[in-house]
Amino acid sequence: MKKGIGTRCVQAGYTPGNGEPRQIPIIQSTTFKYDTSEDMGKLFDLEASGYFYTRLQNPTNDYVAAKIADLEGGTAAMLTSSGQAANFYAVFNIASCGDHVVSSSSIYGGTYNLFAVTMKRMGIDFTFVSPDCSEEELEAAFRPNTKAVFGETIANPALTVLDIEKFAKAAHAHGVPLIVDNTFATPINCRPFEWGADIVTHSTTKYMDGHAAGVGGCIVDSGRFNWAANDKFPGLTTPDESYHGITYTEKFGLEGAFITKCTAQLMRDFGSIQSPQNAFYLNLGLESLHVRVKRHCENALAVAKYLAGNDKVAWVTYPGLEGDKYYDVARKYMPGGTCGVVSFGVKGGRAAAEKFMAGLRVAAIETHVADARTCCLHPASATHRQMNDAELAAAGVSPDLVRFSCGLEDAADLIADIENALANI
Ligand SMILES: *Cc1c(COP(=O)(O)O)cnc(C)c1O
Repeated sequence: MKKGIGTRCVQAGYTPGNGEPRQIPIIQSTTFKYDTSEDMGKLFDLEASGYFYTRLQNPTNDYVAAKIADLEGGTAAMLTSSGQAANFYAVFNIASCGDHVVSSSSIYGGTYNLFAVTMKRMGIDFTFVSPDCSEEELEAAFRPNTKAVFGETIANPALTVLDIEKFAKAAHAHGVPLIVDNTFATPINCRPFEWGADIVTHSTTKYMDGHAAGVGGCIVDSGRFNWAANDKFPGLTTPDESYHGITYTEKFGLEGAFITKCTAQLMRDFGSIQSPQNAFYLNLGLESLHVRVKRHCENALAVAKYLAGNDKVAWVTYPGLEGDKYYDVARKYMPGGTCGVVSFGVKGGRAAAEKFMAGLRVAAIETHVADARTCCLHPASATHRQMNDAELAAAGVSPDLVRFSCGLEDAADLIADIENALANI
């Protein structure tokens, strides 16, 4: 019987043998030694599996990636140096110059920039659709050269919830995979593969690490997408001349082709590897992910309810709050909880929000979310400060918006802090 998700958070990915270290060893070595050139040659030809250079693979990273693969219910996974690298690799592994991708418009700002500016410069076109679009609108976004569909389970910072089944159905009807960034929900609250997603990505910097200790990312493959069903993915289904003519789907099967290609080509050439030391820290975070995520969600719900009942607050967005626009879709995909981030508007606009921020004592002002310590951001006076009100509206960020990431403190202290700060206005 498959073990519960808590047990797997603690134990999956690494099983020490007799007398071996209980904790995942940090293999802080760039390179690995071989007795003969033939032995090493087999690794370079992908004839044998083993380690030769940490830019491509490292045992510490692989233990931790295996744990995340297990939590998501996937067949293979790899760590990357950041969430940005994970999303870049996941898309670039199957889309090249001249190709096209359909993406939800409600995504992390860094990902939007990666897609709309940097990857566009590489010759890949993106069409952005509202996560609330109709099936007809979604259908109309596809082109003959579309290679993937992308969305976030819970979008950062908009807190929209993706209808995963709707996006998966459309992607599959066009013979392409759905890639879901599951950073905010984590596999504790949602496992997108169970709803039809094919590839999952993470910024492990957020809840998975959970302690603001290390930037990192992860890509997981469900192992179910049939790359060979059409001719859209020649990189996976025809020989790779840079690897002695290997065909990834033939050699590694549907369960291993995507991640092996991503490691062998993109890690080799771009080198966005996570350090083994950071992978070790990430695993410490993963060991308590199931305990922490529950508490983050409890605190966020308590804060959201408090804010919804306060007459100094103009509006509250939290997908776990009854009456929220995304409450029903969140109940479907995340019955156990959503995330620890709440957005709200303070009556009085930009100036009132600035005063609110100045009154906080427990919550710290940071451009971060998903930390054990509560952190809070007023985008209009920080990350988006160069924008006027009209530009903010176009970016979907209102001047009064406050993003409040509930940590692991006592809910009563967070609410008291908010109450004081509201009194400060
Ligand atoms: C933070 C974040 C990213 C980028 O991750 P980094 O680790 O900061 O590179 C990508 N997607 C989502 C949803 C995020 O919250």
